[in-house]
Amino acid sequence: MEDCLFCKFIKEHNSKVYEDNLFYIIKDINPQAPLHYLAIPKNHFKYLSQMQSEDIENLGKIFAKISEIAENILQLTGGYRLVINQGDNAGQTVPHLHIHILGGKEMGWTPA
Ligand code: 5GP
Ligand code: ZN
Repeated sequence: MEDCLFCKFIKEHNSKVYEDNLFYIIKDINPQAPLHYLAIPKNHFKYLSQMQSEDIENLGKIFAKISEIAENILQLTGGYRLVINQGDNAGQTVPHLHIHILGGKEMGWTPA
């Protein structure tokens, strides 16, 4: 999508923490934890409900890869939290599905 921020970032190569053919990871510009990354599938869709079968398959692979690189590349020792905001009540601001990866400290559990 031409005017989508996260589609535009696909072409940027200097700010990525990780990249493969399915997705890339960047640091969130407004971190909500000491470590806050965004894992962004390269295919554009906003909602989980819009996924085609390939997207569903790819999302499984993306989760597996995140778990694989969590400690060594992302420095997420001691655990981490994954969040996918969907729609207005969740506060989704970028209309391209992304997985927040949060960690670096012991977190509370309050979607305030
Ligand atoms: P959402 O609110 O849609 O779940 O998450 C969007 C996230 O993207 C927010 O946490 C916000 O800080 C982050 N974000 C928005 N614009 C930029 C940007 O230009 N660069 C980076 N690295 N993160 C961004
Ligand atoms: Zn997009």
